[in-house]
Formats: sequence, structure tokens, C-alpha cells
Amino acid sequence: MIRRTLQRISELAGSSFPTKDQSRLLVVGVSIDTRTLRKGNLYVPIVGERFNGHRFADAAIAAGAAAVLWNRNEPTPPPLGKVPVLMVEDTLVALQSLARGYREELRTKVIGITGSNGKTSTKDMLAGCLYLSCKTHKTQGNLNNHLGVPLTLLDMDEDTDIAVVEMGMSGLGEIERLSWIAQPDLAIITSIGEAHLGDLGSMRHIVQAKLEIVSGLRRGGKLIYHGDHLLLSSAVQAMSTKPQCLTFGIEGYNDYFPGMLELCAQGSKFTVSRFPGVEFELPLAGRHQILNALAVIAAVLEITAEGTEIARQGLAQAEITGMRNEIVVTEDAIILNDTYKSNPSSAKAALETLYLWQDASQRIAVLGDMHDLGEQSVSLHHEVGAQIDENRLDYLFAYGPLSVHMADGAARRMTVNRVYHYSDKQAMMEHVRSVLRPGAVVLVKSSRAMQLEEAVAVLRESG
Ligand code: ATP
Ligand code: MG
Repeated sequence: MIRRTLQRISELAGSSFPTKDQSRLLVVGVSIDTRTLRKGNLYVPIVGERFNGHRFADAAIAAGAAAVLWNRNEPTPPPLGKVPVLMVEDTLVALQSLARGYREELRTKVIGITGSNGKTSTKDMLAGCLYLSCKTHKTQGNLNNHLGVPLTLLDMDEDTDIAVVEMGMSGLGEIERLSWIAQPDLAIITSIGEAHLGDLGSMRHIVQAKLEIVSGLRRGGKLIYHGDHLLLSSAVQAMSTKPQCLTFGIEGYNDYFPGMLELCAQGSKFTVSRFPGVEFELPLAGRHQILNALAVIAAVLEITAEGTEIARQGLAQAEITGMRNEIVVTEDAIILNDTYKSNPSSAKAALETLYLWQDASQRIAVLGDMHDLGEQSVSLHHEVGAQIDENRLDYLFAYGPLSVHMADGAARRMTVNRVYHYSDKQAMMEHVRSVLRPGAVVLVKSSRAMQLEEAVAVLRESG
């Protein structure tokens, strides 16, 4: 993590420094949360929607903060002499400037990852490969926003070779800011989907928002993107200053596409166009994870000459953050726990993954509402249902007010006794349990707020 004198911290954060005698004080690490703050950290109070971090300055000092940042217009800074206080116009901007400044001082290569789906999966897989050859730092969990990105950068050690940084957004301008902070050497756009369609209004805006990652790209940096997505590809072609690009996808016109591809229920095997003799194994199911893996291979090859072997080894032992494509085995059934998030493209990808379980006694989908789809919400729910393959799914249980449209869509293809809609989670789960036969595979997926992990818990208990 960052280790700098207070003098340097103050310069990087754009603060006026109060007293000279403390300028050589060493600050180690940065925290915005007094509950996890470590002795010697700089405490950065953030003004949030519900809490104002300035109110917790005493707790930060009691926990051992070496110094505190302070918004100039906030009342009653900690008394002078307790710890040094660095005054700034805005603590959030100061945190971001500090992170950018620190990143600029290091020789670390930064890989920024954005996209509608697959950022965390790709980040975990990519870091898993790079760990094998160099000192790698990555975003913890899903800390991918205006706070998470600067904290990720400030958390990296001075001698880090590569930082793999996830960048999320819910509106225009956000990725531009994150890219300004992280100044990536490589930028990856994993996919374009309907996530945040409600906030952004159109797919064109979603593409535009993701492409903002290019704005902070370092000189000579490259963009790696999903070339099968036509709207994205044409937006890249239309850029006035287009960076060097590499594409990945299923289609043969991409720089990286699969030659042989064997999709199985628990993982896949594939070769890559550029290295026909080399077989890759991925212990994660689904075509969508192959796409993420192709982006990983493209990036690893940009970083190291032994990229093929490193990617082969790293992908073979890939592990990703929980609740995404997680396989839970109970005595009676296999549960595909994908309760972290859902939108039409990731729901369709998850259904395709469920269909791969050919030996299952039954294939059951428990699908909840997909949030933030804006005006098209009803039709997009309907479409997911209408595109279900009735020959490869035994039951659909749709849960939540929007999912009634998913059930309607599915009812066009499946008989009534195989499609059910529920507003009561407990009642639904009782029904699921009553139809469940040993050897079944159950996909559970929804937007996070629907809390369908409770359904997974019920299935675990009954197994
Ligand atoms: P968030 O925006 O919440 O950070 P994310 O972009 O990091 O999400 P992941 O956490 O990797 O995405 O995956 C979220 C869901 O999307 C999972 O259900 C996963 O299986 C699915 N998914 C992952 N990659 C893709 C992809 N390339 N296309 C479609 N769905 C995908
Ligand atoms: Mg994520």
C-alpha cells in the first residue's frame, strides 16, 4: 500500500499543508472506514448519502489514523495537535487525485476492465494468470466505483508489476473519471448488455459509456474489446482518435476466437485461433466465460512473451468471486448459484449454461426480476421467457412483479404445468422442493435486490 511522507501525500491530494514540523511523518495506507482503518493510515472522510465521514474523525483518530483529510467547508475539524489535518476543497476529489498521483509515480502497468457483464470474472481470471509470472494486484471483490478504484490503486505496493482494476458505472462520465485516475496501459471491454439501460436510456449510450475507458489510456496503450458486438465495433471504428485495438469473440474475424470449442456442464475446453495446437481448459461453465477467457488470453499476451503457457496454466485453475456461476452440490441436486446480478444477456447466458447439464434428471430455472432496464423492462422480461428452449428446461419458476412477464413469455413455449409465477418466495420454494427429483440441476438467478440467495439456502438445507 502507499507509503509516503505527509508532505508528499499533501501535494498529491492537492491540499494546503498546515505545519512544517510534521511534513516528514510517514503515512501508510488510506482508509475511508473507521471500522477497518489500520494504525498509520490516512483517514479520508467521505460525504455520502446517508453518512458524513467527518462525523467519525474521532473514531479514526482513536483507531490510530496518522492524519486526516478534511473538507474545508465542514465544521469543527479535529483540534490541531491531535493529528495533522489536511484541508481540501473536496475529500472525494482529493482521494482520487492522490490515487492518480501515486499511480503515476509507480512503474506498474495497469489493466482497466469495464463492460456490462463479466468484469469481475475477467478480472479474477486475468489476475489468476498474471500472479504466475509477476507481482500482481487486483480489485478486491467488486470495489469498482469512484471510491473502489482509487482505494484499489492506493492499496497496491510500490513494487507491483501489474494492477488489474475493475471499473463499473451507472451513468455517462463515470468510466472517464475512473480511467483518468487509473491511466490504464491496457483497457478491456468485456461485453455490452442491457445492465443500467434504465439509467442510460439506450444501448448507444451504454456503448459510449464503456468506451470512455479509452480516454485515460496511456500513450501506446491498447483497447481489447468484444468484436462480435456490432454496435461496439462500429463505435470503435468511428472514434476520431482510435487507439490500437485487439478484438476477441466467437466469430472468425476477431483477433482471438476459438478454434475447437467443447462446452461442458462444469467447464470447457477450447483452442485459440492463434495457437492451434494448444488446448486451454477452463473450469467455469458457459460460452460467456469463454469470451472472458479470450479477453484474458489477449491481455496476458500483451504483458508477457510466455503468455500462452501462463494463460493456459492460469485459466486451468481459474476461481472467481462467489455467487457468480457458483456450483453448489447438495445430496439431491446441483444448484447453479448466480444470484449476484441479472440482466437479459447474463440471464440468457446462464440458461445456456444450465442446458449444458445433459445428464441432469431435470433442469429447473428459478429466475427473479432484472432491475434497472428502464422503459423496455417489460418487453425484456418477456423476451427472456419467450427465448427459453422448452426442450431443455423442465420448469421455470419466475419470482417478482416484473418476472410475471417472463412467465408470460415462457408460457408461449412451455405447457402451463411447467411455468409458474410467484410473489411469495417461501411458497415458491416449497413448490420447487415438491417437484425436485434427485439428480436435478437448478439455476437460481436474479438481480441482487431480489435476494434469491435465500432460495439457494432453502435448497441447500433440503439437500
Ligand atoms: P458488476 O457490474 O455487478 O460488477 P460484472 O461485470 O463484474 O458485474 P460478473 O460479476 O463477472 O460481472 O458476472 C455477473 C453475471 O454475468 C454472472 O451471472 C456471470 O455468469 C455473467 N457473465 C459473466 N461474463 C459474462 C459475459 N461475457 N456475457 C454475459 N454474461 C456474463
Ligand atoms: Mg463486478
